Amino acid sequence: MAPSAAAAMLDENRLTCRRQTGTAMNILVVEDEPLIMSFLRRGLIAEGHAVTPAERGDAALALFSETQPDIVILDVMLPGMDGFDVLAAIRASDQQVPVILLTARGEVADRVRGLDLGATDYVVKPFAFAELTARIRAHTRDGRGAPSADRLEAAGLRLDLLTREVSVEGAEIPLSAREFALLAYLMRHPGQVLSREQILNGVWGYTFDPRSNLVDVYVGYLRRKLGGSGELIETVRGMGYRLRRAQAA
Ligand code: CA
Repeated sequence: MAPSAAAAMLDENRLTCRRQTGTAMNILVVEDEPLIMSFLRRGLIAEGHAVTPAERGDAALALFSETQPDIVILDVMLPGMDGFDVLAAIRASDQQVPVILLTARGEVADRVRGLDLGATDYVVKPFAFAELTARIRAHTRDGRGAPSADRLEAAGLRLDLLTREVSVEGAEIPLSAREFALLAYLMRHPGQVLSREQILNGVWGYTFDPRSNLVDVYVGYLRRKLGGSGELIETVRGMGYRLRRAQAA
């Protein structure tokens, strides 16, 4: 990917992020074109969402069951299993989750088939990021009825996804955008051991690089800023990190 193009998209998305304060969601993005995937992941993560990427249809289905996403962004043309088959399989077990199809321009038959199979909506490629996020907002507001909580709490630690404020025992803790995203990610998975790979993917949208200590560095920043509550972030040797459900007894 051209680094300058990616940086420009990211900057644009950051501005969007500052303007909008939507509810953070867990989004499954199924897309085999690396540039589009990168664009979507970075943009959605910058808006505060957690993104699970899948490049193949069959992998997407497994990840769907595993991560129980709030919404699915689904490309139609995919290796392994196409978007229609993925959609049909999702609908066999879940009629509620919003699924937005990414379809090619001019493929009217595809859109009709997708809607017949239970797609919630579709966006025609190429699309503007703002168009996709508008659809996401529209379908999650009245989609599942119960979007993810706006507030995450753990043992005196409180994180507000709308105002983007973090406090410990009522005292506000200023965090950088990345620290905030990391803490939100950990707090969304309380008690669960998260590998560095999962964290790097979910928070930075990067593919895992075993030489990178980015996750460890940021966990260090967070622990320092959170003071005593920093102990809630537990190192699980050889595996990753876990947010304790409560202060250790
Ligand atoms: Ca494709």
